[in-house]
Amino acid sequence: MQKTFFISTAIDYPSGIFHLGHAYEKIVTDTIARWKRLEGYKVYFSTGTDCHGLKIQRAAEKAGKEPNVFVEEISDLFRDLCKVLNISYDDFIMTTEKRHVKVVNEILKKIHEKGDIYEGEYEGNYCVDCETFYTEKDLVNGKCPTHKKETERVKEKSYFFKMSKYQKKLVEDLKNNPNSLWPEKKRNEILNRLKEPLKDLTITREKVTWGIPLPFDKNLTVAVWVDALIDYLSTLDYPNEKFKKFWPATHVIGSDIVWHHEVIWKTLLLSLGIPLPNVIVHGFINLKGEKLSKARGITVDPIKLAEKYSTDALRYFLLREIPFGQDGNFSEAALKLRLNNELANELGNLVNRSLVMIEKKAGGKIPASKTDASLQKKLDLKKIEKKMNDLELHHALAEIFSFVSACNQFINEKEPWKQKGKDLEQTLYSLADSIRIISILLQPFIPETSKKINKQLGVKSGLLKDCKFDLLKERTKVKKGEILFKKVE
Ligand SMILES: [Zn+2]
Repeated sequence: MQKTFFISTAIDYPSGIFHLGHAYEKIVTDTIARWKRLEGYKVYFSTGTDCHGLKIQRAAEKAGKEPNVFVEEISDLFRDLCKVLNISYDDFIMTTEKRHVKVVNEILKKIHEKGDIYEGEYEGNYCVDCETFYTEKDLVNGKCPTHKKETERVKEKSYFFKMSKYQKKLVEDLKNNPNSLWPEKKRNEILNRLKEPLKDLTITREKVTWGIPLPFDKNLTVAVWVDALIDYLSTLDYPNEKFKKFWPATHVIGSDIVWHHEVIWKTLLLSLGIPLPNVIVHGFINLKGEKLSKARGITVDPIKLAEKYSTDALRYFLLREIPFGQDGNFSEAALKLRLNNELANELGNLVNRSLVMIEKKAGGKIPASKTDASLQKKLDLKKIEKKMNDLELHHALAEIFSFVSACNQFINEKEPWKQKGKDLEQTLYSLADSIRIISILLQPFIPETSKKINKQLGVKSGLLKDCKFDLLKERTKVKKGEILFKKVE
């Protein structure tokens, strides 16, 4: 039976337009999903939008629209973003969908029947932008620690989830399972915070109408975070076949929502008796040293960048430049540099020169030969696989490109324009066969380019198991296409 893998991004708040940070999360998740497919997994990749809550309700009011219309429109923009970025998702789920509401109802009933939900009164400080309650201790100078904005004082009837009951189990999982939360720094941060006793969690809002009614007290709505997290189960049609096939999950999230995923989500799952997911935390993108933020007007439009430099140049830049798991910087100057040097000069040039020579010197057909043994040694596939397993995406990509450079070096050394006969045939075969393998390895990172290379080379896209030398069939007809990357000034 085929191995399965379920991966998700966090779902985005459709309260306004996206920025490069949203694009980044989708691109890294897409890269991991595609890599797993290369490894032969049956992958299920989900993304979507988090449509309920006070923040959306107010944004819709401000736009003069019904909230359901408002979230549909903005969700369409997020779908467009995925299309432009070539995101290979299997599901785009909105939390307003019936299938999601059904699962939220089912799950809250289960937890309630188990005795893990009780009625009470809540008093606390609410940040609408986070849709999160804070204790006095959490606030910084009386303001939300993330948004640096005044919070709203809330006192209302509430239902609570017995989060404290699962603290011990959660800590055990974090300690015993190194993949539970990555990178390790984040795991230690959460473990540290879990030294303090966990409080029970309010899971409802009394006065927020734009939400899912609580199944056992319809006067209240389900708190937006609880509602949103359950999307990871509704996308899999919990508890049915798809869920059984693909769970547990790997969630890719930003570092501002680690607590929600690691503590709130996992304790809910512990109450339900569902195996816990792995959480992968990516860093933020900074612009001139400042965190991108819609709210604060520090923003870069990923669609404009993709249009200007190509989607693959943008994907490549983000994946190569930012050490995965850490914060990184964005600048157009750095993007141009990588585009010109690595994509155009190294990769584009390699493919172009090789195909030109095969057309000119071998009549456009792959000659019968074997790949040069010394060139074969320059590809360290084990290292690339290890880097991907260790989630060092940027290092994996660097290693693939070190083989691209080795191939260019190989041309310079062999000087095929001076070669003849068997020697020439071997050089040409070696190059074409290497490019075939490079194209497979690059597919998760820059899929459109990989597709173009395959087309020029006259081959179908392969899997990781096809990254062996000498698999390219002789007499395969190549056809040089337009150059892969144009340099920019
Ligand atoms: Zn906030």
